[in-house]
Amino acid sequence: MLRAFSSRLCAVWGREPESWRYGGRPRPQGLTLPEIPIAMLRTHTCGELRAEHIGQTVTLCGWMQRTRDKGAILWIDLRDRYGLTQVTLEGGIESDALLETARQLGREFVLQVTGKVTERYSKNDKIPTGAIEIRPEKVEVLNPAKLPPFLIEDETDGGDDLRMKYRYLDLRRTPVRNNLMLRHKMAQAVRRYLDGQEFIEVETPVLIKSTPEGARDFVVPSRMNPGEFYALPQSPQTFKQLLMVSGFDRYFQIVKCFRDEDLRADRQPEFTQIDCEMAFVTQEDILDMFEGLVRYLFKEIKNLDFPSVPRMTYADAMRDYGNDKPDTRFEMKFANLTETVKGQNFPVFDSAELVLGINAATCAAYTRKQIDELTEWVKRPQIGATGLVYARVEADGSVKSSVDKFYSQDELQKWRAAFDANPGDLLLLLAGPEAKTRKAMSELRLEMGRRLGLRDPNTFSPLWVIDFPLLEFSEEEGRHFAMHHPFTSPKPEDLALLDNPATIGQTRANAYDLVINGVEVGGGSIRIHDRAVQARMFSLLGFTPEEAQAQFGFLLDAFEYGAPPHGGLAFGFDRLCSLFGGSDSIRDFIAFPKNNSGRDVMIDSPSPIADAQLKELSIATAVVAK
Ligand code: ASP
Repeated sequence: MLRAFSSRLCAVWGREPESWRYGGRPRPQGLTLPEIPIAMLRTHTCGELRAEHIGQTVTLCGWMQRTRDKGAILWIDLRDRYGLTQVTLEGGIESDALLETARQLGREFVLQVTGKVTERYSKNDKIPTGAIEIRPEKVEVLNPAKLPPFLIEDETDGGDDLRMKYRYLDLRRTPVRNNLMLRHKMAQAVRRYLDGQEFIEVETPVLIKSTPEGARDFVVPSRMNPGEFYALPQSPQTFKQLLMVSGFDRYFQIVKCFRDEDLRADRQPEFTQIDCEMAFVTQEDILDMFEGLVRYLFKEIKNLDFPSVPRMTYADAMRDYGNDKPDTRFEMKFANLTETVKGQNFPVFDSAELVLGINAATCAAYTRKQIDELTEWVKRPQIGATGLVYARVEADGSVKSSVDKFYSQDELQKWRAAFDANPGDLLLLLAGPEAKTRKAMSELRLEMGRRLGLRDPNTFSPLWVIDFPLLEFSEEEGRHFAMHHPFTSPKPEDLALLDNPATIGQTRANAYDLVINGVEVGGGSIRIHDRAVQARMFSLLGFTPEEAQAQFGFLLDAFEYGAPPHGGLAFGFDRLCSLFGGSDSIRDFIAFPKNNSGRDVMIDSPSPIADAQLKELSIATAVVAK
C-alpha cells in the first residue's frame, strides 16, 4: 500500500501546473518529503482518475453531489476537493441491493465507494475525470447528511446571506474552493520569493497598543489591568521598524490586521497583509525588490511576464487621471480645458475653477438617449457633477457640441486639438470646483472605460505611484495629518518646505503605492530613523512632546540605540488574491469573512457576554447594550 501510494503521489506531482486545481500539485523543486504511512480510507482522490487507470480497483471517498436515476441506470457524482468522479450503477450488472442502497442516498452524504475504473461510454471533456467512471462493488455511507439549504454545485441557488450562514457548505463549492486554493498558492509563492531573498518571517504580537494609521482601533479589555485596554494592530508598523533596529535587516510576515472602519465590498474589519521591511536601503531598492515579487507572482500564478512596472508621480496621476490609483489598462487621460474654453460667455465654464475633458474615442455615435443617461449618471450624488457638456467629432472633422450656441466652429476646433481627437470621437467635459471636478471626471473616465470594455479583469496593468505628499490638511480638524503614516520620511530635498506654513503642504514623502488595475494593492515608505526628525514630525502632526513620548516613547528611544536607515511596505493580501482571481470582492477570497455590518453570521459574532465576564473585565454592565 505504501509503495503504491507514494509512487502514485509522485505521478500526481509530475503533472502539468494547471492540474493543481484537480488534485496533485507539481512537486516543489528540491523538496524531499518523508514517506508517511497512512491507513487510508481511499486509494485515490475524486479528481485523479484518467483513462490510464482503467481496469484498476480503487476506493474513493467524498460527498454525493447528486444522483441521476433513469430506472435501469443510476449515476452518482462523487465530489471531494480534487474534483468529481462519476459512479455508475446499472441494473443487471451491479446487484439489486447495491442499486437499492444508491437510491437511498441523499445529497451531501459522505460515501466510500470501492469499484473498478472503466471507460465511460459517453465521455465528458469538461471535467478531467470525464474519460472514466467507477462501477462500484461496494458503496458505504460514512455519514448521512441533512439536505443542505442550497445547491452545492458551481451554480447555486443560495443567496449571499444563506451562503454566509453555512459558509462551511459554500466552501465545498468548486469556485469558492478554487479562490482559497489560489490564495494558498499565492501565499506559498510569496514565502518562496521572500525566503529566497533572505527575508525572515517574524511574528509580532496581536495584543498591542494603539498605532495611529488613520483608522479606529479594535480594543480588548485587560482583566489583569483593570480599566486598561490592548489594541489589535492596524498593522505591525512599529514592530517591524523595531526589528530593523534589532538588526533583522529583511523582515516579512503574512499577518492579520484589524481596522474598525465602516465596511464596503472590498473592506473587512480583519484582513491580511504581506508586511515587509528592509534596512540599509533606498526607495529604489524597495521598489526593485517588490516589483520582483509582483512579477514573480504574475509569472507563477498567471504565467504572465511583465518587463517592468512603470512609475508615475502622484502629481502626474492626479493631473492625468484625477486619482492616486489610476486604472492604466486604458489611456483616456484628462485634458485640462480651463483656459481653452473661457471667454465665450458660457457662464458655467467662465465661472469654473477647473474644466476637464476626456475623449471617449469611437463614441460619437452615442444617441441622445445614451448621452442623457450619462448626464443623469454624472449628476448622481455619488459622482456630484452639475451637468455634462459633450462634443462629437463628425466624419468630416467638424465638431458638434451641446453648447454650440456659445462656441463657434473655430473655438470647437481648439477643443478638438486639445484632445488630438479623430472623427468618431466623443469629448466629455465637466466643470466646477477643482477637487470635485477632478473626482467626478475620474469616476466618469472609469465608467466610460467600463462601458467601452477597456477594463478586462484578465488584463493586468501594475503601476508604482511615487512621490506622495507627506501631509494632508484636514479642514474639519484644522490640522495636518500624515498621508501615509507618521513614520514616513520627507524627501530630503523637500525638508526646507516643512519650515514654512505656506509650503508645508507641498513637502513630498519617500512614499509609494503599488496600484494594479485601479486598485491600491500595497503601499509603503522610507521611514524616519532619526529621533529628532521623528519628534519634529510628531510635533507637525499636533502632538506635544509629552504626548509623543507617552505614545511612541519606545520607538523614539529605540532610535537612539543605532537605528539603521530602513523602509518597507505592505500589500493587502486579500485584495491581491481577488485581483488575481478576477473578482472585485475580497470576501470571496477569505475563508470565513464578515458581512457588511461586520458580523460573522455563521458563528453569530459579535455577541453579548455574560455579566460575570464583564465584571471580571471591570466593565460596568450598565453601559453595555444587551
Ligand atoms: N503599515 C503600512 C500600512 O499598513 C504599510 C507600510 O508602510 O509598510 O499601510
